[in-house]
Amino acid sequence: MQPADKPDCAVVGAGIIGICCGISLLQRGYAVTLYDPEPPGSMTSSGNAGGFGFTDVMPMAAPGLVWRVPRWLLDPCGPLFIRPGHLPSLLPWLVRFQAMSNRKQVERLSAALSTLLRQSMLDTRELVANAGLESIFTENGAITVYKTRAAFERDALEWQAKIDCGVDARELGVEQIRSMEPALENARYGWFTPQWCNTTDPHGFVTRLWEYFVERGGDVVDSRVAGFNRRDRRSIRLPWRAARRWMYRAWSSPPARGRAGFAASSVNGS
Ligand SMILES: Cc1cc2nc3c(=O)[nH]c(=O)nc-3n(C[C@H](O)[C@H](O)[C@H](O)COP(=O)(O)OP(=O)(O)OC[C@H]3O[C@@H](n4cnc5c(N)ncnc54)[C@H](O)[C@@H]3O)c2cc1C
Repeated sequence: MQPADKPDCAVVGAGIIGICCGISLLQRGYAVTLYDPEPPGSMTSSGNAGGFGFTDVMPMAAPGLVWRVPRWLLDPCGPLFIRPGHLPSLLPWLVRFQAMSNRKQVERLSAALSTLLRQSMLDTRELVANAGLESIFTENGAITVYKTRAAFERDALEWQAKIDCGVDARELGVEQIRSMEPALENARYGWFTPQWCNTTDPHGFVTRLWEYFVERGGDVVDSRVAGFNRRDRRSIRLPWRAARRWMYRAWSSPPARGRAGFAASSVNGS
């Protein structure tokens, strides 16, 4: 089917998620417009740790985890530090999180996650090759290390569950750890997951994907999306000034003519 036969798509937000959604929609033959008031890829996607955790198939909601939450909430350097004022609105989410923290749900979710992540790994490799990102994408794997046997054994069931889900995880002895990373002097036990990938340049990675999106015919409008049209539920609202600018662009530039522009007919939020 030709793009003209398909509805236009609006993607809200030009971070890594929005840009990848945009590329995927272009590949399916849709005309796509990304909306973002900030330069593409300049927000969270520009400054993260650059890890592709394809082997992280275990859901966050693990049995017993909820009992660690109060300590995390009080620790400003912990993984879940929330301003006390936000706690009441977070409570319903925490209750749902706790309801998921049981063995049955973990088995169900890890099976689903492993299916998603396997496909995600294949798709990422294809995207890296197509967009020419090989020089900043590495497939060196990751090592997880423990100082004590007790800590290593505490996680043994989780590692077995990962292996059962098809993750390639290899147990490491102290000599192997030392030869892989001499700086890890205190590490005695560990696991190697070769499928873990990294980008050495998160901002460069997302910027190149944005360029690739544009090269393939994607459009970018530097405007905040102000809301969704409640009447037809299929279009987005832009602030008036931006809508006017976009109308002007649509009328004055031939390649853009014919696009629904600010009245995009389907919406994909990020
Ligand atoms: C310290 C740190 C380390 C991390 N490490 C990793 C890691 O190793 N591996 C990993 O996978 N993830 C990691 N993450 C998470 C990862 O960075 C984010 O999950 C990811 O960048 C989110 O992408 P995004 O496109 O949703 O968000 P963003 O990159 O923040 O993009 C959202 C965009 O939406 C735009 N926007 C917002 N509202 C509107 C609106 N109304 N209209 C139009 N546009 C709008 C914003 O301007 C922004 O550009 C890390 C995050 C942090 C903070």
